[in-house]
Amino acid sequence: MAILVVDDFYDARILLERILKNGGFSDIVMAASAKEAFTLLGLGTTTKPRENFDLILMDLVMPEIDGIAALTHIKENDALRDIPIIMVTAQDEVESLKTALDSGALDYIAKPVNRIELLARVRSGLKLKQEIDRRKDNEKKLLAMNETLQRLSFVDGLTGIPNRRYFDQLLDQEFRRASRDKRWLSMIMIDIDYFKNYNDTYGHQQGDTCLKRLAQIFRNALMRPADFVARYGGEEFAAVLPDTDIQGAIILAENIQTKLTEARISHGSSKVSDMVTVSLGVGSWVPDKSAKPSNLILDVDKALYRAKWDGRNRMRRTDETQ
Ligand code: GH3
Ligand code: MG
Ligand code: MG
Repeated sequence: MAILVVDDFYDARILLERILKNGGFSDIVMAASAKEAFTLLGLGTTTKPRENFDLILMDLVMPEIDGIAALTHIKENDALRDIPIIMVTAQDEVESLKTALDSGALDYIAKPVNRIELLARVRSGLKLKQEIDRRKDNEKKLLAMNETLQRLSFVDGLTGIPNRRYFDQLLDQEFRRASRDKRWLSMIMIDIDYFKNYNDTYGHQQGDTCLKRLAQIFRNALMRPADFVARYGGEEFAAVLPDTDIQGAIILAENIQTKLTEARISHGSSKVSDMVTVSLGVGSWVPDKSAKPSNLILDVDKALYRAKWDGRNRMRRTDETQ
């Protein structure tokens, strides 16, 4: 671990260095002034701070910039704040010593320096630094892990598209925005036709593969960056289309059907086609203050049910539910 010794007296620096070296510390860097220390720490105007010191031994009384001013300057820097600083002082500097400790010095050692005392303080300072480094490292790892978890918790494990949780949050957000800005918000609910039969015919695993393919087809059918499609439930998907009126939503729903037809996924036990088909419910609103996102879901769900009732493999709008 690297130690920076700051003292304007050559003899004092040499003495400290010798004690430290004899105590087993090899990486010792000397500075004859606070300015020199700042340069070594990368505290210039153009350079980046260097975080490679683990401890600083700082003389309290120095010409130009004294130990307290130097300490204060170092502690102001976010990247250097955690380097423990031990003040080296003469016995009669008690008042400034208090200021130093108040300003963030970890500890002090009195001159003339006692070898055993110095080594003990340096060791405990370095131990503290190690602990801080370890904690920072753990925090970084935790942060990265949190990000991954956050991301994973919004992604459907099977299909890789957004899941229900994401859908609920984003719909809520888009709903409030549309309500506030008095803009159109559209939604499409998609349900695979006779999918139970598909599983029964081809097996659950191929059913899963089919769900994955469909998710990609739906995703590719979207047109704007703000549009998104999520897996709403087992074989149900839901698309949210901000800033889109009913004409736009219908075009998108038709696009979904076209893309699915083009994919030509066989379905030997569907009662409406020899290919996999879907039924869709479509709705558009400029939500008013009294409406809730769940009202929209209920409405499109009714339209979807209507599409099923009318023979499947078709789309129905929310105003076609009667
Ligand atoms: P309908 O045309 O009326 O929608 O008929 P359906 O068979 O598609 O609807 P139903 O609700 O009766 O069945 C849905 C099926 O979807 C049953 C279930 O096994 C299947 N399913 C749901 N989630 C998954 C999944 O993650 N993987 C697979 N392979 N199948 C799933
Ligand atoms: Mg269903
Ligand atoms: Mg179905």
